[in-house]
Amino acid sequence: MAHVGTLHVGLAIACTALGSAGCIRAPNRIFPALSGSIGLPHEGTLRGGVPVGDTPLPLARLRDNDRRYAHPDLARLLTGVAKSTGVAASPLIIGDVAAPWGGEISGHRSHRTGRDVDVLFYFRDLSGNPVRSPDFLVVAPDGLAWDKAGQRWLRFDDARNWAFVRAVVTTREATIHWVFVHRALRERLLRYASAVGEEPSVLYEASERMAQPMPSGPHDDHFHVRIGCTRENAAQGCENGWSGRVKPLSMTEVHFAPGELRAAVLDLVDP
Ligand SMILES: [Zn+2]
Repeated sequence: MAHVGTLHVGLAIACTALGSAGCIRAPNRIFPALSGSIGLPHEGTLRGGVPVGDTPLPLARLRDNDRRYAHPDLARLLTGVAKSTGVAASPLIIGDVAAPWGGEISGHRSHRTGRDVDVLFYFRDLSGNPVRSPDFLVVAPDGLAWDKAGQRWLRFDDARNWAFVRAVVTTREATIHWVFVHRALRERLLRYASAVGEEPSVLYEASERMAQPMPSGPHDDHFHVRIGCTRENAAQGCENGWSGRVKPLSMTEVHFAPGELRAAVLDLVDP
């Protein structure tokens, strides 16, 4: 612990010396060995990031830009999760990860250290066929989303979105810090998982990791996955923490009133 504390003090000094504009915690003469995710999710940089979504897997990027660089742990996580939950007709589609060297990118407060990624939800059409997620679509608590470009309603795919969350929170590729998602969808997924007999330990882990951050968007149109720092990452400059402004809402437990669980199960049956 003393070692980590020393490192933090050193980083602070390096930041002060650079001045606020240059306070990017990048490798420098004082800390040349820093690599990977350096600094806080909303304040750091990335060194040694790898592009995600370039391989012919059931994993694709929504947009073809350079915001596709991830910490290697996150890249492995996404590859594994895509293999287990994506299909050719409906791949796992990601939005922004981070710029090649991390740092600030427009439209995001975090996404600076290669540990944050936006992931589109899985959808089915109203006939039950898996479809390729066309964009960030807002999902109502009833699970329906309007696809404006396709002029059609789509249904939040409870089974595959739960499979995604399950794969993320049980991965051995990375330490999962958060899966940000709207509280209504978090509850919907936990109800589904409970109804299909999910293991209590997985339910618990998912309920701990899924949260709606405030005030940084309701996350009703995508998951935002953030991996944490391992001890090895921390020794390389990785820092967990909040901006002081953005914090998850207090964890809401899912309580089932008498008969409600049955109603939740019936709700899963297509009309
Ligand atoms: Zn995000």
